[in-house]
Amino acid sequence: MNCIFCKIINGEIPCYKLYEDDTILAFLDINPDSNGHTLLIPKKHYTDIMDIDNETLMHIFDVAREIKTKLENKLHCDGITFIQNNGDVQEVKHYHLHIKPYYNKNSHLQPVEDVFEKLAKN
Ligand code: AMP
Ligand code: ZN
Repeated sequence: MNCIFCKIINGEIPCYKLYEDDTILAFLDINPDSNGHTLLIPKKHYTDIMDIDNETLMHIFDVAREIKTKLENKLHCDGITFIQNNGDVQEVKHYHLHIKPYYNKNSHLQPVEDVFEKLAKN
């Protein structure tokens, strides 16, 4: 299957990894809408919200809460939006949850590697 997110999971394509366990992976979006824009994906290829099982979905949202806290603490964002696209609005047909920080003040997009460095620091 020619799925870009499966390739990231298999290590064929690099990513700015924020979290990984046996079943899910979180990494920074390569073309972010805002600084810290993160994607959370299951390691198994599910297409969309209708395809994915409830247990994996619950786990994704548990970890999404932790990532939300991390983005707030490290990037000092003022809000967080969760988005999950399906059908024609979904570009990559491998289930993914977008976690998008929101900033009250205009915040210029920084290089993804710079944002990653901030998130990686203790
Ligand atoms: P969607 O429209 O919900 O399918 O969004 C797909 C998202 O995946 C977009 O925000 C892309 O910028 C992002 N994306 C595509 N390829 C990569 C990649 N190699 N690494 C990180 N993010 C990616
Ligand atoms: Zn896939």
